[in-house]
Amino acid sequence: EEEDCATIQILMSDTGGGHRASANALRDAFAVLHETEPSLYPLPIHCDIVDIYTDYGPFWPVNAYVPLYKFMAEYSFLWKWFYEFGATPLGLWMNDFLLEVFCFEPFERCLARDPFGEEGRSDGKRRADMVVSVHPLCQDLPLKILASLDTGGVSRREGRTTPFATVVTDLGGAHPTWFNKGVDKCFVPSAVLKNAALDRGVQEHQIVQYGLPIRRGFWRFGADYSKAPDAQNEQQEMEGVHHKPTIREQLGLLDLPTVLIVGGGDGMGGIVNQATAIGQKLQSLAASSSSNEPKYQMVVVCGNNKAAQSSLSPPQTVWGANVAVNVMGFVNNMDEYMRASDILVTKAGPGTIAEASICGLPCILSSFLPGQEEGNVPYVEENGFGCYRGTPEGIAETVEEWLAASSVTTEGTVLETMRECALSAARPDATLDIARDLADMVYKRREQLNKSVRKQEVATAA
Ligand code: UDP
Repeated sequence: EEEDCATIQILMSDTGGGHRASANALRDAFAVLHETEPSLYPLPIHCDIVDIYTDYGPFWPVNAYVPLYKFMAEYSFLWKWFYEFGATPLGLWMNDFLLEVFCFEPFERCLARDPFGEEGRSDGKRRADMVVSVHPLCQDLPLKILASLDTGGVSRREGRTTPFATVVTDLGGAHPTWFNKGVDKCFVPSAVLKNAALDRGVQEHQIVQYGLPIRRGFWRFGADYSKAPDAQNEQQEMEGVHHKPTIREQLGLLDLPTVLIVGGGDGMGGIVNQATAIGQKLQSLAASSSSNEPKYQMVVVCGNNKAAQSSLSPPQTVWGANVAVNVMGFVNNMDEYMRASDILVTKAGPGTIAEASICGLPCILSSFLPGQEEGNVPYVEENGFGCYRGTPEGIAETVEEWLAASSVTTEGTVLETMRECALSAARPDATLDIARDLADMVYKRREQLNKSVRKQEVATAA
């Protein structure tokens, strides 16, 4: 099996849920390409996804980035300081210097490892054909290590032959360490990040702008990609995928105006207070109707936040009979919940925003992490599919405003306009587009490697 595979090592770290999610999305995209377009993608692509800091960091704090990030994300002033210092020339230099001194050897073991598991083949023969980074701290040092591996230790600066690409998983802002001018390709999701890459010396021809790599459920045609190649009437297909009443029924929801509240994978950003404020507002909106039927619906997705989930369930009665409330833990079908909803309230996570955009779902951004998430606010506002509201009351008022404006049946209501804007900013093909380009790179590398093996065989035979 190993002989008939191209291999890609994907470097990441579980600081936030997005990096692994993107890595998994690319892995799935390679599988789909091979499955649905075997003439173009005849060779399966095996992905070796590795949290290089956690698994190969030699000591604290390098091997503890994941819990440290979680801690700093909660005390965001710490994160702000750390992020901003890291972006100064001194911070960048220190990071580079310390990593090279302390992590070169352990990380070299990572990059030299057999992509199918067994570790430690530093003869370079069995390591991955190509390396892809989906993390801001996996450019500079891995590039040096590859140069060294490819030149047999002669140079850390030049002579790299193993292809290397960065796939940026932030959206409206990104740390400078994402960008290294030595990469073969740098995939960015937005014009803002393309400019950030250019500012760091990455050249136009190295930069490719498609969109964020995200989970299969959000790709065009939903999860049912098997239909794509022979889908004559794409329009009809998409309408089927997006048909709200059907999706609501499948999810056991009512067919009512629906507000979805999420706070990333960890249910952060104060979702309990937001749900409370929005519920009260919706109840008071509906109360004049004097009926006991639900008029509005809320879905609160708490992710891994067990405390939030238990404090909201069973749904408190404070909201009254006119608001149906569904409290969920971590859901694996976010695409369906988004397609069932009319408004999303979320922290400004890049993944969630890109997903909402694909679903045509207007967003109210409730909070953002300083640094990389800050730019996601103007991203959403400038694309016209949402706004930032920093308090539960402000969020509730905006929900009321949008729903009221939308109860008008003529075209061009606030929500409809934002829906159009969201869809036109959406990049549902990004994951497959990125995967196609990466596949071409790794195939080309395989050809080169095969040729050089053949040459060697001829030489030894002679
Ligand atoms: N998510 C999910 N189920 C949940 C909550 C969140 O699948 O119950 C997903 C969500 O769809 C998105 C990701 O978790 O893909 C969150 O990524 P984002 O970049 O928005 O924020 P992060 O959690 O990485 O800070």
